[in-house]
Amino acid sequence: MLPTLLLSHTSTGQKIASVVSGDANDVELAVSAAHNAFQTWSETSADQRAELLKKLANTLDDNLNVLAQLESLDVGKAIVNASGFDIPFGIECVRYYADLATQATYQSDLNIDGMDAHIHRAPYGACGFIFPWNFPFDLLMWNIMPALAAGNTVVLKPAELTPLTTLYVCKLAKEVGIPDGVINAVIGTGQRVGSPIVQHPKIRRMSFTGSSNVGKQIAAMCGERPIPCKVELGGKGAAVVFDDANIDNAAEQLANAITLNSGQVCCTATRWIIHENVYDEFVNKVISILKATQIGPGLAEETQMGPVVSQAQKDTVLGYLDKGLSEGATLLYQGNASVNASYKEGYYVAPYLLEGLAENVCFKEEIFGPTAYLVKFSTEEEALNLVNSLDYGLANSVFSEDLTRCYRIAEKMISGNSWINAHNVFAYGLPYGGVNKSGLGGGVNSPETFYDYLRPLTIARPIA
Ligand code: NAD
Repeated sequence: MLPTLLLSHTSTGQKIASVVSGDANDVELAVSAAHNAFQTWSETSADQRAELLKKLANTLDDNLNVLAQLESLDVGKAIVNASGFDIPFGIECVRYYADLATQATYQSDLNIDGMDAHIHRAPYGACGFIFPWNFPFDLLMWNIMPALAAGNTVVLKPAELTPLTTLYVCKLAKEVGIPDGVINAVIGTGQRVGSPIVQHPKIRRMSFTGSSNVGKQIAAMCGERPIPCKVELGGKGAAVVFDDANIDNAAEQLANAITLNSGQVCCTATRWIIHENVYDEFVNKVISILKATQIGPGLAEETQMGPVVSQAQKDTVLGYLDKGLSEGATLLYQGNASVNASYKEGYYVAPYLLEGLAENVCFKEEIFGPTAYLVKFSTEEEALNLVNSLDYGLANSVFSEDLTRCYRIAEKMISGNSWINAHNVFAYGLPYGGVNKSGLGGGVNSPETFYDYLRPLTIARPIA
């Protein structure tokens, strides 16, 4: 009998599905299929590829509600977010890269004396992808769409906890006529499926999204061969709120930052660095927003914050909070996660606010749950030092009505993304990626991401 992975309902703990778990043999089949399909997919014109991808986008639109329900069921996220943001935003990505494929520059002439020279850009071949469980649909689209649009084929592994929307996308891709072998998904764990993908000699390029620890291992494996590797990793975003900020806006943005997807967002703000003059006002406003936030099962229409993804994740989050409190943090606020009694076996975690010193584990480590840790500051320099005191570098934000100050601080915060008077800002054409422990290799969501999937080749002929 084939080994299976059991998927459980985040609101009740009950089984929702079992999925066959693959191994290195399945990876072998998937990579061979991708390698063979590359011969024709890479020769298909960019216009034809774009047309097929747009057909896929249309059918994804038609199946938006099914995809949103699957995503909500699998991850526990609020259906209003899945249907209002995750799925439509992911579909927009398909069209964005389909259009870029038709507009891209595949050849650039070089103006060099005595030579006829140019750069030719061609796809790499079969590319590997490994994903985490927090935004399965969006991360799938952000990463495989530029690769496919540029003419590569893909072998991918969703997180073992959340494979459902990925499987559904594969079914729809087949139905719209994307040729067999172009998109290959293998379900399974990191050891059994992830590592064999990274180490397969026919994988020409690798992309990993997940924790910083696993990302380091993936980058090291890619370095052995070596193949180009993009790693999008963990974060511990900071938000700095100055005393001239619009406090209503800052409180709303930051309360939403920890309740969106139950705080399981890599770039979210979980270190709140608040000017001492507005600290109490800010905290009171955030608490009143958190109190009004409707916690409940992901699929319920009124839910604003669902459970976390698994019992293990719930235990991890609560374990961090216990450790933070034992290190001397003060509990500023604990929400109420005891929703309807029939859901008491679900993986609910209430929103928590802690305050204390910046040495605390809850200030320093990524918790990945609906929590924030607050620290007071009085000078701009102090705030910047707190922001830049960690090795993470994914996304930070600054809140102030003084835009000169905002841009000054935004430039000095060490990360891939600095947001002003907002947190969690995404658009196609707006590059998104991390530095230091938060990422390496290029990021996503921009034209550069498309060119990452084209291998530059210099062609030169000396002329008399
Ligand atoms: P994880 O690193 O534990 O797992 C990510 C994926 O890697 C999973 O598919 C897992 O099966 C696989 N994996 C684990 N060990 C492996 C190995 N040895 N070889 C190959 N594959 C292996 O991360 P997670 O808990 O699923 O996700 C949460 C993390 O993802 C957080 O740290 C979060 O910040 C990060 N994340 C980052 C971004 C970004 O864009 N920077 C986006 C989303 C999530």
